Amino acid sequence: MSDDYFKPVSGFELPRFAGVPTFMRLPHVPPGHDRFAEVQIGLIGVPWDSGTTNRPGPRHAPRQLRDASTMIRAQHPVSGLRPFEAVNCADLGDVGPNPADIPDSMERITAFYTRGAGAGIRPLTAGGDHLTSLPVLRALASERPLGMVHFDSHTDLFHSYFGGTMYTHGTPFRRAVEEGLLDPARVVQIGLRGTMYDTEDRDFARANGIRLITIEEVFDRGIPDVMTEAREIAGSGPTYVSFDIDFVDPTFAPGTGTPEVGGPNSYQALQVCRELAGLDIVGADMVEVSPPFDASGGTAFLGVSIMFELLCVMAAGRT
Ligand code: MN
Ligand code: MN
Repeated sequence: MSDDYFKPVSGFELPRFAGVPTFMRLPHVPPGHDRFAEVQIGLIGVPWDSGTTNRPGPRHAPRQLRDASTMIRAQHPVSGLRPFEAVNCADLGDVGPNPADIPDSMERITAFYTRGAGAGIRPLTAGGDHLTSLPVLRALASERPLGMVHFDSHTDLFHSYFGGTMYTHGTPFRRAVEEGLLDPARVVQIGLRGTMYDTEDRDFARANGIRLITIEEVFDRGIPDVMTEAREIAGSGPTYVSFDIDFVDPTFAPGTGTPEVGGPNSYQALQVCRELAGLDIVGADMVEVSPPFDASGGTAFLGVSIMFELLCVMAAGRT
C-alpha cells in the first residue's frame, strides 16, 4: 500500500484545470527532498532534443505532457488497478539538460537516474527525443545488461549520422548494445516500418540476435500473439520498455518528428502496453512527443495515456 503523501490530487477535490501541473497530479519530490527515498516509481521529465536529426521539438514535451496528464484519473478501466494506491509514485521533476552540449547532457541525465536507482526508484520517463534512452540505460544497466521491449517505427540502431556523429536519436540502441547495457537476445523491436536509408540497422540487429517485428507481422499475426512472443524474448529478467510515440499512426499521433504511415491506432497502442503485464519492468520511457507538431494536443494526451498504461504494468510488478 502507498503512503497518503504520494496520492495524486483528485479532480473531485480540485478541478483539473487548477493547480500547478505535475505528472498525473502527483507530489513533486525532486532529489534532495526529504521523502525522495520513499518513492517507488518516479516520473521524470527530460526536456531535451539535441539528438534530433530532422524536425526538433521534444524538448517541449515534458511540460505539455504534465499539462495533458491532469486528465489522467486514478483507476485503470480494464484491470481495475489503482496504481497510486499500490505503490508510492511521485513527479521527480526535470533533468536540466545542456541544449548546446550532448555529452554534458548525457552525463547529467545519467547522474540523475543513478541517484534515483540508488534510492530504489524505478523511473518512468517523459522525453525527450530517443537519444534520452541511452543515458537512462547507462544508469539502470550499470550492474547487468537489461532486456528491452521497444515500440517504434524505427530501430534506432544506426552506427552514425553525418559522417561519424555517434550520438543521435537514430543511434541510441546501437550504442547501448556496444556498451553492454542491453542483452541483444532479450531485445525485441516492434512496429518497424517506413521508407529506409538502407538495411545497415537491420543487418546489425540480425547479426546480434535482436528480434525485429515489422508492422506487417504485427497486423498479420495480431497483437496478442506478437506480444506473447515479446514477453518470451524479454523473459523473467530485468527489462526496460521504450515507447517512441511514432509507433502510433500519424493520424492518431501527428505530433512527432519522424512520422511513418500505416501504423497502429491509439487503442492498439494501449493494448500492446497492457500485454506487458508480468514482465519485471525496471524502467520505461515515452519519447519523441513533439508539441510544435501537435496542433491539437492530442499526441500529448495519447502520450500520457500510454504512460499511465506503462505505470500500471510497472506498479503491478511491484505489488
Ligand atoms: Mn525512436
Ligand atoms: Mn521512431
